[in-house]
Amino acid sequence: MPEIPFAVVLASYCVEYHDRNECSDCTPEGCPRLEDAGLTLDKFRAERLERYRLRKGSL
Ligand SMILES: [Zn+2]
Repeated sequence: MPEIPFAVVLASYCVEYHDRNECSDCTPEGCPRLEDAGLTLDKFRAERLERYRLRKGSL
């Protein structure tokens, strides 16, 4: 079972929320919360990819 950090769960929830809604921090130029969530998800994906690459390389 893949381990998903709580921050990542929250981040994906935040991105999903912004598909249809605006939060209290949203502005016409964008949203700091959505930006943060995007960064968190990007970081998680990059780390997961790196782990996968390392594991594959050791086989
Ligand atoms: Zn927002």
